[in-house]
Amino acid sequence: DIESRAACGVLTIDLGALVANYQLLCRQTAPAKAAAVVKADAYGLGVAHVAPALYEAGCRDFFVAHFIEAIRLKPYLPSDARILVLNGLMPGSEGDCADLGVVPVLNSLEQVANWSATARARNATLPAALQADTGMSRLGLEPRELDTLLAEPDRLAGIDLDIIMSHLACGDEPAHAANARQLARMGAVRSRFPDARLSFANSAGIFLGEDYRGELARPGIALYGGAPLGEGQNPMRPVVRLEVGVVQTRTVPAGAEIGYGASFVASSEMRLATIAAGYADGLPRHLSNTGAAYYGDVRLPIVGRVSMDSIILDVTSLQPGALKLGDMVELIGPHQTLETIAADAGTISYEILTSLGRRYERRYL
Ligand code: PLP
Repeated sequence: DIESRAACGVLTIDLGALVANYQLLCRQTAPAKAAAVVKADAYGLGVAHVAPALYEAGCRDFFVAHFIEAIRLKPYLPSDARILVLNGLMPGSEGDCADLGVVPVLNSLEQVANWSATARARNATLPAALQADTGMSRLGLEPRELDTLLAEPDRLAGIDLDIIMSHLACGDEPAHAANARQLARMGAVRSRFPDARLSFANSAGIFLGEDYRGELARPGIALYGGAPLGEGQNPMRPVVRLEVGVVQTRTVPAGAEIGYGASFVASSEMRLATIAAGYADGLPRHLSNTGAAYYGDVRLPIVGRVSMDSIILDVTSLQPGALKLGDMVELIGPHQTLETIAADAGTISYEILTSLGRRYERRYL
């Protein structure tokens, strides 16, 4: 159609691979269940496609970060799917959350008080998850706040505490001492809320060992093909492929200055190809003079700075005329994984995925 002909590149999202990844994570987690973390538009891949595919595969618990994401996700899921809000609620939105049947994560005594007040005002029992801070110092109740809650159980009036959860800070570094520390703290918290389901493991946690899995794992990145444990072999199937079109080719003489800031100067005659995606399309500026694209098996280094809407490649290693207007080069795919491009850009796969722009044609397989 008109948009696919006009787009600067093609972002292919393999929902079959996504479902295969979910199934692998379910097997790895069993007998515990696996939820899906679909915050930030399913890590940039389109929650309207991703969440229904995972529901079809049997997933019933979906975590988003902000309540606004829950509101937008709701129409895409049947009513027996649960949507949970990791950051909890801003004051004033509790009633809307209860109306929609969305489940907040309660991260502080204040969020507990607000949710309890909402339940009591309705004479209802409202479900919630409670997050304990076991060492990340980001979200969740501190140990002394949990003491307060247990000493004054009326604070939980009207709340059905279904899940008790915490999040690993260093799960992708299996040898990091923080993992065992957090696990021990989680065990202590868990014993104080024996009726709630424990949710602890993210993607990495699922692979750290049985102790870390709890009763409801919360994988995100591994669903989308990212390596759950930073290094080593990646057991997940790739979900994303990104190809970008060539908009112009040229031959430049020795001494030619390439791109903004003239940060690259040709030392001999070079052939160049300019491709139609830049930092506004989620290709980090840190790839300037470092990263690469692939044409077939041939690595084509990025030369000069990444621009907003284009990148210049050194294509001297290809036969003259081998690349022409409209040809596609691979940025993410079989030759260059998400992890490779992230490492070249000095970032993590999560940031690459969630930055992928809106100007590609998106093809869902
Ligand atoms: N749980 C929480 C609280 C998170 O913030 C995240 C994402 O960062 C996840 C689970 C999923 O983590 P991952 O994508 O590493 O599996």
